[in-house]
Amino acid sequence: MNEEELAALRKAGAIAREARELGASMVDEGVSLLEVAEAVEGHIISKGAKPAFPCNISINEVAAHFTPRTGDKLRFANGDLVKIDVGAHVDGYIGDTAMTVEVGTRNWTNLIESSARGLAVAMEIIGEGIPLNTVGGAVDRAIRSNGHVPVSNLTGHSMKRYNLHAGISVPSFDDGGAVKVPGDIVLAVEPFATNGVGQVRNSKPGNIYRIIRERELRDKAAAEHFRLLQENFGTLPFCERWATALDPKASVHLRMLVRHGLVFAYPILTEVRGGKVSQKEHTVVIHDSVAEITT
Ligand code: MN
Ligand code: MN
Repeated sequence: MNEEELAALRKAGAIAREARELGASMVDEGVSLLEVAEAVEGHIISKGAKPAFPCNISINEVAAHFTPRTGDKLRFANGDLVKIDVGAHVDGYIGDTAMTVEVGTRNWTNLIESSARGLAVAMEIIGEGIPLNTVGGAVDRAIRSNGHVPVSNLTGHSMKRYNLHAGISVPSFDDGGAVKVPGDIVLAVEPFATNGVGQVRNSKPGNIYRIIRERELRDKAAAEHFRLLQENFGTLPFCERWATALDPKASVHLRMLVRHGLVFAYPILTEVRGGKVSQKEHTVVIHDSVAEITT
């Protein structure tokens, strides 16, 4: 990994961290989710980076993949368990980070602690040559010893330039896999903990999209919108809000692009038994025999 790449990764990580802290600090009873998402994304842009994906704000049994819509009226309520997941990129080099906060109550302190302990133990042991199932096993034990279970079908992931999920998964349990952490790699590590059964399932769409392939379209307006999305977001996830800012008719076009298989609509991920879910995430860069947390 060369110095320019490292510098971009460090800058993206620092900006993502600031944006995460800003978002989490704004979460309060009666505050709108839209206000928080826009502040997080606005902060990233004001610091000279770009969002690597829309600010995810996932509440209670929702683990991930929700962002508010244009004009969304949703507000935080007392007792909500809120995950803020933030991505920033500098020239395609990504920092991905998340944390969990509780609105007004102290009912979920220990659940928040479980994912934090899972991440802390992973950060202690991760490094070049370490088997990823060893990391996963340690995360699993940390979460279980704190009285909860990890969400086993959500994993961390390697990242490459402009690529949020670059092929290697970081499990939150010992999956028996023999893959070792390679050198010169960027990993997002993100244990989710729950008081449910430890699985999420797909729910309805959460306003987040990604281009998955290119294809001829007969509908001229939808084809034009597709080009606009490609130009602005490329291979990274985007949301209805960002598409609508480019074109007020975006929602109509997006429906068609999803139906024709050019664009993927991320489903909201919900704990199967309705368990509450916490998450904590850092990006770690493995280089020169060190594991450097950038976020
Ligand atoms: Mn994330
Ligand atoms: Mn991630």
